[in-house]
Amino acid sequence: MEFLRPASWQEALAAKAEHPTALPIAGGTDVMVEINFDHRRPDHLLDLNRIGELEEWETGTDTVRLGASVPYARIMSGLRAELPGLALASHTVASPQIRNRGGVGGNLGTASPAGDAHPALLAGGGAVEAESVRGSRLIPIDDFYTGVKRNALAPDELIRAVHLKKATGPQQFSKVGTRNAMVIAVCAFGIALHPDTRTVRTGIGSAAPTPIRAGTAEEFLTAALDEGGLWDSRKPVPPAVAGQFAALVAGAANPIDDVRGTAAYRRHALGVMARRTLGWTWEQYRAEG
Ligand SMILES: Cc1cc2nc3c(=O)[nH]c(=O)nc-3n(C[C@H](O)[C@H](O)[C@H](O)COP(=O)(O)OP(=O)(O)OC[C@H]3O[C@@H](n4cnc5c(N)ncnc54)[C@H](O)[C@@H]3O)c2cc1C
Repeated sequence: MEFLRPASWQEALAAKAEHPTALPIAGGTDVMVEINFDHRRPDHLLDLNRIGELEEWETGTDTVRLGASVPYARIMSGLRAELPGLALASHTVASPQIRNRGGVGGNLGTASPAGDAHPALLAGGGAVEAESVRGSRLIPIDDFYTGVKRNALAPDELIRAVHLKKATGPQQFSKVGTRNAMVIAVCAFGIALHPDTRTVRTGIGSAAPTPIRAGTAEEFLTAALDEGGLWDSRKPVPPAVAGQFAALVAGAANPIDDVRGTAAYRRHALGVMARRTLGWTWEQYRAEG
């Protein structure tokens, strides 16, 4: 196995173009597990750790451009106001050691349906900035996940950053696991209220072949909030509306039975998480008014 250690982003892109099968390594918290278990034996490892800009973020008027390798710990400490859903999801990843190394670029690279960043990214809205020597493109987050542990990156592309919409309203993240830390999600759910566009977005983790949004549930709730004039009145969401939203979220999932949980349990848990997180975010929205 050859170890490539580019000193700059341009060198990294050139190395990926020359060796498209090279495996990028950032925090290494997924890559090293796969190598240690001999699940992967790449010809080349492409170490991204000397590229400082991958560990930085820029805050614009409406968006945050989050470098691919910004570790979860720094998202929690530095971006809680701008990206509350992702900061909450980051809290639930593994342990402090992993949160100091791993980041969103690696979660996207692995594209596991159980990755904790995904429901928050889907709910918050954004795009993945992919780059190669051929140029740069923005892949909408909804189009990024293409199959179980598959993503839309071309073989010569690397993730430079993730462009995320700054929160304009409350966001929440909820995860069910067998314990409170160091646990892969049995299922997870993210929700973001977007009062600027009067819409609601969601993200479901670990309950379908890829992370997904609960589109029908979003449309239902967005319409119900609008028709009830609730964005303006900030009155409580009627229980029937919350119940229907929960049922539609559960129905959007396509889970399987596996060692972590049954499909039936996952659907049930998603409904509970959807109702609870809607309650938390809506109460916060009301309090802010
Ligand atoms: C003990 C343990 C507990 C864990 N618990 C959780 C958990 O609770 N929740 C969770 O979501 N994850 C968990 N993980 C998995 C892992 O920590 C996360 O997926 C993390 O986000 C990976 O980030 P990383 O920087 O370490 O990625 P790496 O391991 O360096 O890379 C992961 C993948 O992304 C690719 N990649 C990395 N950077 C780029 C880039 N810039 N461009 C293109 N491809 C890139 C790599 O080639 C690889 O395929 C756990 C891992 C361990 C070891």
